[in-house]
Amino acid sequence: MNTKLLKPNKQTYELAKNLINAGEIVAFPTETVYGLGADATNEIAVKKIFEAKGRPNDNPLIVHLGAKEDIKKYVLNINHLEQKIIDLFMPGPISLVLQKNDKIPYVVTAGGETVAIRLPENDIARDFINTCKKPICAPSANTSKRPSPTLAKHVFDDLNGKIPLIIDGGQTEVGIESTVVKVEGNCLYILRPGKISKEELENKLGVKVLSNITQSGIVQSPGTKYTHYKPKCDMILVKTDVIENIKKLYEENTKLGKKVIIFCKKEDKCKFKNMNVVSLGKNSEEASHNLFKMLREYENNDLILAEFIDNGNMVEGLYNRMSKSCSGNII
Ligand code: AMP
Ligand code: MG
Repeated sequence: MNTKLLKPNKQTYELAKNLINAGEIVAFPTETVYGLGADATNEIAVKKIFEAKGRPNDNPLIVHLGAKEDIKKYVLNINHLEQKIIDLFMPGPISLVLQKNDKIPYVVTAGGETVAIRLPENDIARDFINTCKKPICAPSANTSKRPSPTLAKHVFDDLNGKIPLIIDGGQTEVGIESTVVKVEGNCLYILRPGKISKEELENKLGVKVLSNITQSGIVQSPGTKYTHYKPKCDMILVKTDVIENIKKLYEENTKLGKKVIIFCKKEDKCKFKNMNVVSLGKNSEEASHNLFKMLREYENNDLILAEFIDNGNMVEGLYNRMSKSCSGNII
């Protein structure tokens, strides 16, 4: 299959619509990462997403909609707190898990009775969805386990020849996937952290938000058990005595003949003189924006030593992605 990489314009959206209507899959940018979309009501089309990515079929997809009014077409009921989340946070980088109705096939929800709903705020994602006039289910547009794509090139590198179209919208803004939330009783749970933080949810909704899902006994977000976001080389996340530990590990591994690269906070770059070092950004927002792109850019080294960045409003989301990128290799 020939994979087209096209800029977003009317012609591209028409082509995308025709492909989606024909049961094909299309990659498109959102404000978080690039998604790989299909008509959520077409089981055969949805299966193509799992095939192209090599994604396990027990990992559910998020249904992306163009308008708030569309949500009730695909779910059973929406309670007061859920409605408040929709009113206050959508469109935006948040996915809300609701009870699905029979318009959503089980292939989308990995056999479950719930469906994650998201309204992207990125213009290109909205234009694509609104032109298709279909609910678009999508995971991130990468090969399973690889870092999520934040550039059209990343999608191309992973899926060239496997999908017919990538809409090229440049680099995505947020850089990590949406916050996934679910209401259970009167409690709100974060199933996957993202840009919308626990504090922001608590402040705007006036409820306690719980994020320690396993301790509270409710099922963790399906899919979170899998290896994720891994670069091709080894990676260590350094959280304690950062400067000394990074320098020590750098020297030890360089002596062994390994090619080592340091990812650090902007202000710390000057502390690693004569070493191979790049800045992840000045805070967790910038680091989230850059992380997946840098993992792909620097994975031709033997080892990435990454400083954990603990300032800004996206610390939880960033830590979640970095700790998975390094497969729990944290000191
Ligand atoms: P991706 O953004 O590529 O990781 O794929 C979608 C992710 O959304 C899944 O891996 C889950 O973590 C989450 N998700 C999707 N549907 C549901 C659901 N029904 N309940 C809980 N989490 C979900
Ligand atoms: Mg993904």
